Amino acid sequence: MLFLDARAGKIAMTLIISLISCSLFALVYSPASSADRLFDAHLHYNADHAAHYEPEQIIGKLEENEIERAVITSTPAHLAARLYREAPNRIVPLLGIYNSPGDKTRWTRDPGLAERVEAALKNGVWRGIGAPHLFADDRHSPVFRRIVTLAVDHDLPLALHADPAVIDTLYEIAPDHPVIWAHAGTYPYPDLVADYLQRYPALHIDVSVRDERIAANDEIADDWYELFATYPDRFMVGVDTFSLARWHDFDTAVARIRQWLALLPNEIRTRLAYDNAAAFFGMPARDHSGEKATSRAR
Ligand SMILES: [Zn+2]
Repeated sequence: MLFLDARAGKIAMTLIISLISCSLFALVYSPASSADRLFDAHLHYNADHAAHYEPEQIIGKLEENEIERAVITSTPAHLAARLYREAPNRIVPLLGIYNSPGDKTRWTRDPGLAERVEAALKNGVWRGIGAPHLFADDRHSPVFRRIVTLAVDHDLPLALHADPAVIDTLYEIAPDHPVIWAHAGTYPYPDLVADYLQRYPALHIDVSVRDERIAANDEIADDWYELFATYPDRFMVGVDTFSLARWHDFDTAVARIRQWLALLPNEIRTRLAYDNAAAFFGMPARDHSGEKATSRAR
């Protein structure tokens, strides 16, 4: 009896040890690790943000949140360049085309804009142009056409906050040009988004500020899941620091994105978290196999 008990004890102990090692292994190599490094495809660093946060503080926020690379645009444009100089390996600067917030509603009628953008492109830091706001009614603006042509001539991707009809016009002007459609567009319905992705193979989508649509109750909505699974190479994540308050709450916003990313299968998650944005900007994908083990080894 004693012998049997001892044997049962030994088996139990072996089981416990195996379970602990498995859990430790899972903790280190978990495919659903919450510590995936991110490539944030949509950040703003505008004048009112810069008045509050120095570049090194912004870089600190990115580091703390394990955002290895970040696409930044700014109003005015030189602020994104300033951030880039602070951390050239981390910041992917897009040339913003607004000098002040008011330009958001008047840029399509600004006759001097294209020349200013062309001059600014001579400063070689820019990895793209973006992300102006454009409604369908303004899609035939000659200024918009000039900006698209400049992007094509300089071989620079475009990022846009835009209505669906704007995307159609853009691809009439520049078929096959790489574009990031911010927030999955102004009407972020999976059916509509799928239709556009199918029509325009160079179109990519950032899903910033769409967290509640994608995963309202700790579960990925079926239609979004299907969209990601059908077009796993076309989506990117981003916080979108559209206001100073958004920078204050940056950690929470990043955590919310990680929360739903963790619900996706490994191969889709790593693409959305990092690899799609990296491929879009011609940068190497990450080796995600040891995320957690290496994430603090700096
Ligand atoms: Zn934005």
